[in-house]
Amino acid sequence: MALQFEILPVTPFLQNCTLIWDEESKEAVLTDVGGEVDRLLEEVAKRGLQLKAVWLTHGHVDHVSGVVDLTARLDIQVLGPHPDDDFWIQQLPQITQAYRFPFSPPFAPTRWLAEGDSLSVGRYRFEVLHIPGHTPGHVVFYCADAGLLVAGDVLFLESIGRTDFPRGNHADLIGNIHGKLLILPEDTRVITGHGAMTTIGHEKRHNPFL
Ligand SMILES: [Zn+2]
Ligand SMILES: [Zn+2]
Repeated sequence: MALQFEILPVTPFLQNCTLIWDEESKEAVLTDVGGEVDRLLEEVAKRGLQLKAVWLTHGHVDHVSGVVDLTARLDIQVLGPHPDDDFWIQQLPQITQAYRFPFSPPFAPTRWLAEGDSLSVGRYRFEVLHIPGHTPGHVVFYCADAGLLVAGDVLFLESIGRTDFPRGNHADLIGNIHGKLLILPEDTRVITGHGAMTTIGHEKRHNPFL
């Protein structure tokens, strides 16, 4: 019995929404519900899982624009991101239209997250780390027991998140990656926001931005 996950890329940006569950209790969460809610719910149902929450890393359209659709159908908690990303969520009506995504109104999470908060899936605990830079309210989710990091758009395979958006900050991003992520065990598996998975050890050795 272990912590399981399945990466489910959604939206034209192939954003790595991830279904994470505890095989023993069947309790599950979805991270970064960017859209394609029908398909995501099929993935939950076919495994017989009990979805209890959505965890959001940051407020970008490809990561959050399915949340209102999902919570209209299921009574589940929306946790995160950090409140400094509220300005992104408030702009969802304009941004979904500009990017030709299905329309989304703004929403308020059940609970905003901050550094040091603790989340759980079944018996597994995830620590919330605040990593501003790509967006000011970006958080990541780290499970020491499973050696797993959900990194959103902070860290990619041999790359890092863009910082040229409003309120982006390159120095914050680099400083926080060094201070909070590269200190994690090298065999920590990293689910990135787009593209392939990586590990902390691989990025320490091969990421040209760090
Ligand atoms: Zn982003
Ligand atoms: Zn993204």
